[in-house]
Formats: sequence, C-alpha cells, structure tokens
Amino acid sequence: MPKSIPVNQPLLDGNERAYLTRCIDDGWVGSDGPFVAEFERRFAARVGRKHGVAVSSGSAGLEASVAALRIGPGDEVILPTLTIISCAAPVVRAGGVPVVVDADPSTWNVDVSRIEERVTPRTRAIMVVHTYGLPVDMAPVLDLARRRGLRIIEDAAEMHGQTYRGRPCGSFGDLSVFSFYPNKHVTTGEGGMILADDDALAERCRALRNLCFLPGRRFVHEELGWNFRITNLQAAVGLAQLERLTEFVAKKRRIGGLYTELLRGVPGLQLPLPRTEYADNIYWVYGLVLDERIGFDAEEAMRRLAARGIGTRPFFYPMHQQPVFTRMGLFKGESYPVAERLAQQGFYVPSGLALSEDDIRHVALHLIQALRTTSP
Ligand SMILES: *Cc1c(COP(=O)(O)O)cnc(C)c1O
Repeated sequence: MPKSIPVNQPLLDGNERAYLTRCIDDGWVGSDGPFVAEFERRFAARVGRKHGVAVSSGSAGLEASVAALRIGPGDEVILPTLTIISCAAPVVRAGGVPVVVDADPSTWNVDVSRIEERVTPRTRAIMVVHTYGLPVDMAPVLDLARRRGLRIIEDAAEMHGQTYRGRPCGSFGDLSVFSFYPNKHVTTGEGGMILADDDALAERCRALRNLCFLPGRRFVHEELGWNFRITNLQAAVGLAQLERLTEFVAKKRRIGGLYTELLRGVPGLQLPLPRTEYADNIYWVYGLVLDERIGFDAEEAMRRLAARGIGTRPFFYPMHQQPVFTRMGLFKGESYPVAERLAQQGFYVPSGLALSEDDIRHVALHLIQALRTTSP
C-alpha cells in the first residue's frame, strides 16, 4: 500500500475532547450553550473587535453580512473574480450586482490598483478577500472606501492569526467574516464568525442568524433571516482550537517554509511569496502555479499526484466564468487574464496542520518527479 497523503488533516489533540465531554455531560448541545458566547467573546478579543457573532459557516457569515448592510436590488459590490462562490452568491441573491476585479500575478489576491476604476454611483461596498495566506494590501482599499463612502466586507476566512502591517486581519471590515471549515487554521467542523465594532450592525447580524425572531414576540417577523446558528458542540471545538492558534500559525509557517526550501529552483514552478512588505505568509494552503512551458496544466498535475496518493485541490475558478452567472447574463464579454491563468495553472498540495516533516518531503519528492516525466 503506497503512502497516501490527504490534502488536509486538522489537528484536534488539544482540549477538544474535554470540552465536548463537558457539553455532553451537561446536556448543552444546542446553540444557546455557554461555549458559544465564550467562543464569540474570545475570538473577537483575539482580533481586537467589539462583537463576535458565531454562525454555521463562513458562507453563512457572508450571506448575513450582505443582508445586514442592506445590499439590495441594483447595488454594486466590488470583489475579486478569483474567489469562492460564497462571496458573489449573496450579492446576486440580494438582487445586487457583483463587479469583479482581476488578480495580482504574484500574491494571487485582488489587483488593488484596479479597484477604483470599477467604482460607480451604484457601488455600495468592497468585499476584500484575503486568499491563500497573504493579506490584501489594505491601505489603498481603506483610503478608497473612505473617499467614496463605501462599506467594507472583509472575507478573512483564511486569515486566522494573520496581520496586515501588524494589525489583525479581520479588524478592517465594517463586517469581517471568518470560516471554521476543517482546512482553516481554526476549525469547528463547519462554522464561521462575523466580527463588528458597530453595536447596531452586530445586533442585526444576530437577528439575521436567528430567523429574525422578534425579541418580544418570538413568532412574529418583520424581516426574513436564516437559521445560521452554531451549536455548543461546535463552539466547544472552536474554543479548544483557538487556544492553539499561535502554535498553529507557527506550524503552518514551518510547513510553508519547508515546502519552499524543497521546491525552490524547480523549473516551471511558481511558489507562494514568503512575504510582502506588509505581511509574512501564513500558508493557509501551499499553492503552486505551473508555468505554461511545463507543457501541461494544473488538472494534469493533480491527476499525476493523485496517482501517487497525494491529495490536491485546484485554485478557485473565476466568478466571471461561472456558468451559473454567465447564464444569468452577468459579466458579458468580460475577461480577466491573470485570474483565468491562475485558475488554469494553479493548485495546492497537502497543507493540513497534521502534516509531518516526512510527509512534506514525500510530497515534494513526488511533485518533482511527477512534473519531470512527460507521461505519468
Ligand atoms: C472557506 C472560505 C469561505 C467559506 O467558508 P465556509 O465555512 O466553507 O462556508 C469563504 N471565503 C473564503 C475566502 C474561504 O476560503
């Protein structure tokens, strides 16, 4: 049986089991258990925000954020084209228009210099999405938002423990959203968190999370919300994970550093930037972009690695090429060559917290072999 390395494996060997046992012993399994409030409080404090609203996923957090800011029919929201569907979907569902921007070829984040040209009188918000381990260059975005009176929704789903010029990611948005999916630095299985400083906005997110039950008359509704509640069981795991965030970030950096050491100089391979002038990479995942000269694309590379027992995932697929959106007539005639190329040539290799140094060496060795051969 050849060694098999999954694309992600979390580490759950802290207080997770002890806290879950407490939930079961005390009968607190629902969403009104004490771990939920504790997790919200500690997570918000860690990022330096006033309010934390835990939700059932990062996607739910983005959905509630768009609704909380009352993005509605005709409103435009600027976002990167190279991102997850969870960013654009809530805008479209609200009747708004996602306006997309190309990617930067070296950081793989949005090309910040191309945002302002997309602002129109109908623009309401900029959705900032930090991807793959490096934050977006926030200073110009914050300046633009201030000058043009735009809201910021910050998708910090992949940025637990990351900072931008020393300030925590997740502290920049009117609303900032984290995910606790199993491949994030902190997981609850499924889960997410909205962070805010504004009391009314936070309250509105809480209402939207809980079906907009009226405080005084529970089953009377003046607005539509969702059941986006998180359970006490999930929050118990999240709290145990959060206790180890500093350690997890250090471990991810060691994983990224070792991959870079082993893969540096391999022809045809673009590696993640170890740092920019405003942040050191936290390697949410270890991404790679194949040079066209290598003669095949990410799909072929992933096929070859799968044959060697190594799990991979493609990069995101651009919003402007999503069948669901083009069928609606969105993004007609638009092209964003950098994002299109990254989606074609980019993928990531096993990056989970449970990886051993041996695993990383094994992946790097097989990657180099798989790229070298003309046939798998
Ligand atoms: C993971 C992720 C999400 C979605 O989070 P879920 O908890 O899986 O719904 C949103 N945005 C980005 C950038 C992500 O990486």
